[in-house]
Amino acid sequence: MNLNSEHFPPRPAWTEIDLGKLRRNLQLIRGDLPKHVQLMAVVKDEAYGHGALDVARVAVEEGAWGFGLSTLEEAMTLRDAGITAPLLLLGERQEAELEWCAAHDLTVCVNEIHNVRALAKIAAKLGKQVPVHVKIHTGMSRYGVRWDEALPLIEQIVAEKSLSLEGVMTHFSQSDETEKTFANLQFARFQEILTALEQRKISVKLRHTCNSGGFLDLPHTHLDMVRVGILLYGVFPSLVCRKIPGIEPVMSVKAKIAAIQKLKPGEVVGYGMRYTAASERRIAILPIGYGDGFPRVRNEGCALIHGRRAPLLGGIAMDALMVDITDIPQAQMWDEAVIMGRQGNEEITVRDIAKLKNSVTYDVLTSWRLRLRRKSVNHTKQDETRISRIDTNSAKPESIRANS
Ligand SMILES: *Cc1c(COP(=O)(O)O)cnc(C)c1O
Repeated sequence: MNLNSEHFPPRPAWTEIDLGKLRRNLQLIRGDLPKHVQLMAVVKDEAYGHGALDVARVAVEEGAWGFGLSTLEEAMTLRDAGITAPLLLLGERQEAELEWCAAHDLTVCVNEIHNVRALAKIAAKLGKQVPVHVKIHTGMSRYGVRWDEALPLIEQIVAEKSLSLEGVMTHFSQSDETEKTFANLQFARFQEILTALEQRKISVKLRHTCNSGGFLDLPHTHLDMVRVGILLYGVFPSLVCRKIPGIEPVMSVKAKIAAIQKLKPGEVVGYGMRYTAASERRIAILPIGYGDGFPRVRNEGCALIHGRRAPLLGGIAMDALMVDITDIPQAQMWDEAVIMGRQGNEEITVRDIAKLKNSVTYDVLTSWRLRLRRKSVNHTKQDETRISRIDTNSAKPESIRANS
């Protein structure tokens, strides 16, 4: 028997990433876009918790132009694993990072003069002409140069021989809500810049403004490329945005029943005794808790077992939650329960969990902890099932190393 640490049995709680659904979502999004509009797949924060390398590989096959990322480490991980597509770092860079970016062909946004000069020097030293994007803040007040101060900066970039202006971009504060007035104001500010650039005969290959919400609901702002994140993963950015039929969630969270208890009337459940049985109850213990990223709720929410809703009882613990299976008599030890996702005709959506958490779907997707291993299903042609071994002490899932 192989008792090597690579081979111990997987924990009976995990996230399941359906790469077949991811592929389908990419195809539907690609098919919805006009041919001339490029698709940037946003894979920051481990592809919203789905595993950036697995997602990147599928997205390359489905014709994504490149990837949007947030940190240098995220980008280096993809480069090290052999992803050669453009990688655009969306946030702001420290000067010390610029050398790495230039050396590994990571594209950065330069939004202030100091970084323009520093990057130009580094590029010249490397004998490269480095493509850059400029992020223009048109009202979001986050990263980027103000729209009414952008022109001199862009002219400086164009004047640097070792840099090439590949992209100009902006980001909407409000794109997935019914109210589009502010988005349209932001776009008008962005267009002022584009017009000024045209007048100066400064050409830009990639003008981009849209996240998922903009892609869905602001087609007049698509320009040359859209930056799609959450929709790739099958979650619509809001309830009111346009829907593309067939897009489905890629991530599920599952656990197996690890204990069953019988309660007599008057008996209590969990820390703080927040639930008291009014009648005889049968409950299942699922080995997943707030230490895995499930919201710290009491007597709220449910899990799916045998395609039926089993309500949560009491307060959830770090490593366990308790559900009522009195009405699911067929439920047995080690049966599979769905914490987030679909089972039979029932579904617990990412939005349902977001409500329990008083937060947004983005936060739910990225909050599942790495001790829930990622199991990728419908992976590639072979349709194999793999379990990504996660090293909880490191930011890098082992699947990434194993595949590199
Ligand atoms: C995260 C991000 C996106 C993707 O947003 P979604 O709403 O997930 O599609 C696009 N652009 C920028 C600048 C981002 O930071």
